[in-house]
Amino acid sequence: MSDLRELYQSVILDHNKKPRNFGEPPGSNRSAQGHNPLCGDHVTVYLAVVDGVIEDVGFEGRGCAISTASASLMTEAIKGRSLEEAEKIFEGFHALVTGPAVSAVDARALGKLTVFAGVREFPMRVKCATLCWHTMHTALEGRDKSVTTE
Ligand code: ZN
Repeated sequence: MSDLRELYQSVILDHNKKPRNFGEPPGSNRSAQGHNPLCGDHVTVYLAVVDGVIEDVGFEGRGCAISTASASLMTEAIKGRSLEEAEKIFEGFHALVTGPAVSAVDARALGKLTVFAGVREFPMRVKCATLCWHTMHTALEGRDKSVTTE
């Protein structure tokens, strides 16, 4: 189990150091800014939505390792997904970091995102991990929106 935990940590550290899909992607037509005043995390999520599918996604921002890694992993998780699928992943992720437990089936659907399961034990960190997801959710509603965890 401790090996597993180390692996999970290395995924988070890797995504913090080399964030994937950083920057505004071409064709971006939705965006939102998120702010987590408790930690000082800022994130902007960009989406290129075409015919109900997230064709491309990117983010910018600065914050703690958890918030940056979460945004990076989120972009990988939702790229190419339909809006319904993205909402489902969002719900699953939310349950993962706030709920009592996630079923094996849900955990499989979440893939790499399960690295954030340990965040559940640190309520302050839950907001760091979910900031980008709330921001993505808000971005789906339009352009230049903003959201705060408070
Ligand atoms: Zn943070």
